[in-house]
Amino acid sequence: MTDSSAARGYDLVLQGGRVLDERNDVDAVMDIAVKDGKIAALGTGLGAGAKKIENVAGAIVTPGLIDIHTHVYHKATSLSVDPGFISRRSATTTLVDAGSAGAGNYDGFRDYVMAHSPYRILAFLNVSFPGIFGFDKGVSIGEATLREMLPVDRCVAKIEANRDRIVGVKVRIGGPVTGAFGLGALELALEAANAVNLPLMTHIGTAPPSYADVVSMLRPGDILTHCFRPDPNSAVGADGKVLKAVRVARERGVLFDIAHGMGAFGYDTAERALADGFKPDLISSDVHVIAIEGPGYDLLHTMNKLLNCGLTLPEVIGMSTSRPALAIRRPDLGHLGVGAPADITVLRQFDSNFVFEDVVGTKRQGSTLLQPVSVYLGGRPMEVARRPFEEPFLLGCNHDH
Ligand SMILES: [Zn+2]
Repeated sequence: MTDSSAARGYDLVLQGGRVLDERNDVDAVMDIAVKDGKIAALGTGLGAGAKKIENVAGAIVTPGLIDIHTHVYHKATSLSVDPGFISRRSATTTLVDAGSAGAGNYDGFRDYVMAHSPYRILAFLNVSFPGIFGFDKGVSIGEATLREMLPVDRCVAKIEANRDRIVGVKVRIGGPVTGAFGLGALELALEAANAVNLPLMTHIGTAPPSYADVVSMLRPGDILTHCFRPDPNSAVGADGKVLKAVRVARERGVLFDIAHGMGAFGYDTAERALADGFKPDLISSDVHVIAIEGPGYDLLHTMNKLLNCGLTLPEVIGMSTSRPALAIRRPDLGHLGVGAPADITVLRQFDSNFVFEDVVGTKRQGSTLLQPVSVYLGGRPMEVARRPFEEPFLLGCNHDH
């Protein structure tokens, strides 16, 4: 995997880190070289002749983190947060917005936010014409209560004109979001997703409709987001086991996404599902104006939470890099193979006594935290911000090579 040092002239070599790349089945200490914004080589002794070398011994080198459920139509929708702020803090290179915009206001998202951000911002387009328009502290107005709010033809037309950035359709189902319309909104969203042949991301809230009714309608490749929401209407039945309809949906190819947010991660659900052998497919934050202040915070904190629930480090990284990339049908992203865009996140793992909290106030003492070291986006070094809410709990680095 190496070539002669004179000829290669790498722009950057990350030296001696533990490289974790699920797609390419890599988990090994090695160097990784970047040239012209792309991954150029992986191997040993790549540093000679490189323009820049970063010694990352003892650190973890992963594909740039992908948060598949965010809200970053900043300043134009009340629920959204600054994509730059959240990317710097969470060591993320790709943000996928989950339906903040609908067909009626997507152009502003594209022209005023996406076009001005150095980060890769992609979107699920809300089947609701105005997107999520009434969400803030103390404000919650459903965007999918009326058939008239969900014009499928307008959603389809907007996606056809913006396939470079729109990766699927979003709908929120449940409780006040859909009201009496319920599964009718899901039917319309599926109609749109079928018309454009893209995945549907479906939010599950309180019943009606039931969790089982919602997952039963999803197609292979569709994403059920907020999969470990707490009771009532969780993925776990009264017997403590994962619902049959959930298992059937997974066998069919439906993907299950964490999307922590302010209401959608309960230890009671997560621990029972994991004990029953049901792991999530995807980890995401559902970061928005309320969740950003905890207990969800952001993608990296949600990854830390799942790591402390017993998922392995390679699993947690795969669920936040390779698997979301494949879920949005962007196989160019989320891996470190030669020729891939040089989106790279470097993390360090610390011992920690951080006390995690879920959305209903249940607490769990953790033992470890991942923290950002550096981030490269298409080979460019990006700023990394402090995580003051986690810092007091770092006890020491537990990965010494
Ligand atoms: Zn959301």
